[in-house]
This record gives sequence, structure tokens and C-alpha cells, in this order.
Amino acid sequence: MTEAAYDTGNIFAKILRGEIPSHRVYEDEAVVAFMDVMPQGPGHTLVVPKAPSRNLLDAAPSTFGPLFSTVQKVARAVRKALNADGVTVMQLNEPASGQTVYHLHVHVIPRFDGIPLKPHTGTMEKPEVLAENAEKIRAALGS
Ligand code: AMP
Repeated sequence: MTEAAYDTGNIFAKILRGEIPSHRVYEDEAVVAFMDVMPQGPGHTLVVPKAPSRNLLDAAPSTFGPLFSTVQKVARAVRKALNADGVTVMQLNEPASGQTVYHLHVHVIPRFDGIPLKPHTGTMEKPEVLAENAEKIRAALGS
């Protein structure tokens, strides 16, 4: 088992640096949340700590307090915004688990009774749909 190093060129690092766009719904000094571009369901949001780590396995323990309090805020907001029945919170570590972007992040996915998740990294969503869901989630976070 080898431990790969954090790569500052990963796509979420670029989003955090503002080098590529995202549909942001939340930001504070420690955490950013934005829409997943290949959602596994409507309103699929990613919560990303600003501190660099590849995943949960190499993260500093101090990362998790701010990260998971934001996960809870976002989970409540997506549930309200999308009028969801439940919320899946998911976090993957290393390729064997399905991780595809190597900057720690937590998936927050609204769930609806009887509707399965779409495949992981399946289909790109239309920007206008992502923008509309982001607007609803921002509104729910603000209320
Ligand atoms: P994981 O496989 O757990 O590392 O999740 C990475 C997630 O990032 C996947 O659900 C992708 O759909 C999503 N993703 C990839 N590129 C972007 C991007 N540029 N903006 C937002 N989400 C992305």
C-alpha cells in the first residue's frame, strides 16, 4: 500500500482557487459547497474543506469539525430546497472506493422515496439546471 501525495492540480483545488467555475451555494473561512456537475440526483452538492488533503485518510483531524457542521447545514438546506424525503451523505477514499477527485469532499444528495441514485460520475447536468438548484439551495441556507 502506497500513500499518494496531495496534488495541487486537482480539479477541486482549481475550483477553490477560482481558476475554474462552479455553482457555489456556501462559503466560509474553512469550507466551500458547490453543485456536482454529474449529479446522482437533483440537488447533489459537494462540501469541500479549503485545507488540502487527498481524502479522509490523510486529513488533519481539525478539518472535520468545520467540514461536518457544514455538511449538516447543507443536508438540511438541500432537503428543504428540493423537498426531499431524505439525504444521502457519502465520502469516498482512494480508487478502490470509487474516488475520482483527490481533494477531500463529502457528497450530499437529496433522496426521494423509491428513486434510486443515478450512477456515480454518470451524465453531465445542464448548467441551467445546476444554476436553478443552486439558487434554491442558497435560498434555503439563508432562511
Ligand atoms: P468522488 O468520485 O467521490 O471523488 O467524487 C467526485 C465528484 O466530483 C463526482 O461526483 C463528479 O461528478 C464531481 N465533479 C467532477 N468534476 C467536477 C467539477 N468540475 N465541478 C463539480 N463537480 C465535479
